Amino acid sequence: MFKAFSLCSLLLLALMCNAQKPSVPEAALPYSPSLDIKSMDKSVDPCTDFYQYSCGGWKKNNPIPPDQVSWSVYGKLYQDNLSFLRGILEEAALSKASAGSVTQKIGDFYAACMDEAAVEKRGTTPLQPDLDAIAQLKSAHDLAPLIARLQATLGGSLLFSSGSRQDPDNSDQQIAGVNQGGLGLPDRDYYTKDDAKSKEIREHYLQHVQKIFELLGDTPETAKKNADTVMRMETSLATASLTRVERRDPYKQKNKIKLADLEQLAPNFNWHSYFDELKLPPFQIINVVPPAFFKEINSKLAAEPIENWKTYLRFHLVDGYSPYLSAAFVQENFDFYSKYLRGAREQQPRWRRCVRYTDGNLGEALGQAYVAKVFSPELKASTQEMTKRIEDAMEQRIHGLDWMSAETKQQALAKLHSIRNKVGYPDQWRDYGSVLIARNDFLGNVQRAAVFERRRNLNKVGKPVDRGEWGMTPPTVNAYYNPQMNDINFPAGVLQPPLYDAKIDDAPNYGDTGGTIGHELTHAFDDEGSKFDAKGNLSNWWTAEDRQKFEERTQCVSDQYAQYIVVDDIHINSKLTLGEDVADLGGEILAYMAWKDATKHKSLQPAEGLTPEQRFFVGFAQWACANERPENLRVNALTDPHSPPEYRINGVVVNMPEFSQAFSCKKDQPMVKAPEKVCKVW
Ligand SMILES: [Zn+2]
Repeated sequence: MFKAFSLCSLLLLALMCNAQKPSVPEAALPYSPSLDIKSMDKSVDPCTDFYQYSCGGWKKNNPIPPDQVSWSVYGKLYQDNLSFLRGILEEAALSKASAGSVTQKIGDFYAACMDEAAVEKRGTTPLQPDLDAIAQLKSAHDLAPLIARLQATLGGSLLFSSGSRQDPDNSDQQIAGVNQGGLGLPDRDYYTKDDAKSKEIREHYLQHVQKIFELLGDTPETAKKNADTVMRMETSLATASLTRVERRDPYKQKNKIKLADLEQLAPNFNWHSYFDELKLPPFQIINVVPPAFFKEINSKLAAEPIENWKTYLRFHLVDGYSPYLSAAFVQENFDFYSKYLRGAREQQPRWRRCVRYTDGNLGEALGQAYVAKVFSPELKASTQEMTKRIEDAMEQRIHGLDWMSAETKQQALAKLHSIRNKVGYPDQWRDYGSVLIARNDFLGNVQRAAVFERRRNLNKVGKPVDRGEWGMTPPTVNAYYNPQMNDINFPAGVLQPPLYDAKIDDAPNYGDTGGTIGHELTHAFDDEGSKFDAKGNLSNWWTAEDRQKFEERTQCVSDQYAQYIVVDDIHINSKLTLGEDVADLGGEILAYMAWKDATKHKSLQPAEGLTPEQRFFVGFAQWACANERPENLRVNALTDPHSPPEYRINGVVVNMPEFSQAFSCKKDQPMVKAPEKVCKVW
């Protein structure tokens, strides 16, 4: 559901991410225009490869920094944000702010993270109570409450994930849910695929697991044996897990059962003491996805001796905390997850990681200082207005569809009119008042912030949904649509130059940010989002005939993207990327309509050798300028629901006759499709 290709989830944020360059904090965000002629390569014919024409100069001038796994306009802006936030944090750390204030918390969190000597001296001592608890496990029966305790500081995920979620049938209500998890590699397919590369990756993963055990003091022989155990247990969990494509089907994500039925499904897991330990508000119904995964846990509990469970937990506890531990653990975490898997050459400097961790742990505290400096009321008003114009374009578009019945159109319009727009930052900031942040205890800070977040999440069970809540922090360079909230969210970080540029003409702004807004809006009507109604409930609002016509149209997009190559001989898994591909196309069509409407009384003039229409399309393409490491592309091919950047541009413009008109492309050129072959969903 996200726009950006490099930041697909907050979880991944800890592993990948961006940046390089200045070693001093920046006092203001640097400016670069949303259309930059120097980023183009005009020696390329736009009708042959529009992405290269628009981004060739950028690609040449922006090699991937050694600490990055990819480098892009989005990634670079995120890097600028980090440098800027660093200034805010260093100031906060020096400020001697009163204990418990927002400034004290963010300043001390950052300072404690930067104190490498203290982190080094503590080693794994802060984890010792948890390691002792694991060592003292007596039987599988005692496993459940321990997992509940360990999950509290591990983001709610260990062996499986649990927490509150919106009821798929009643989006106003929060219910409890458990979901698959428990793997150390980024996707279940890594365990099940039989090609040479997958085997090689598994071999490296085994070595990584062994290394973690050795760092904990095991002999190489024991560590190797333990790694085999972890691999075997994870493989059976992976086999029982849904694939990413299956997980895009909201009906496969829905399985509301009685608590008693969960106890029957997996009786070897002591659910009673698990939920007791979580201190959940009382509940009767729980969403369990997928049932086969919990059945597998159940049979493993019978089959695996308790020693093997201890081994499994010990690894996942320490692997999860490695980025926050002493240098040897940090290094091993980098070597496997960033260097080997994704191709980074160097570790990110400490300050950059510490800014990210502060954003990740106290995001809405740090975000307050950020928006005060970079997100003016004028900026908020102008981006809100653009959002409104994109929504008006969608309304026109729905009215004009020749394939949809009046009945379904009415439902689509009701859904459109119910969408909530969230721009910049939350109306109500999260109150971190109860989180103790100490200047000399980095890992403790991370754990206490995690416990706070976990408690906040669990306490929602049985309560009404808070529709003002945000799933991204203000400095995040990304945006999202949430189908159950039925809202579109644009953090302040994604509304900065070169993405949204108040100093430049409308054309590139609509091409770029207008397209982003249109992208998120179209997610409400993509193959997945369109299964939710105006209230955000999983409920069909289509006539059977209209749905079939819709699916023929999405199939056109899916067939188109299936032809494209990600890296080597790996094709796009276009069933995984379908929602994003549909959103990219729909978003740009809406942006074009909205731009035309917004400027209908203006006399548009060429600038910098480009017509207004050409500026719209180059502005669009330049959001996606990027260089990628092949290793990272391989991971993305399995895990990223977005297509690679070049196809997010070229795959869209081939379906827009307005594009070939703007560049006077001829019928037989690659960027031009015959009218009957053009894909159009919305
Ligand atoms: Zn998206």
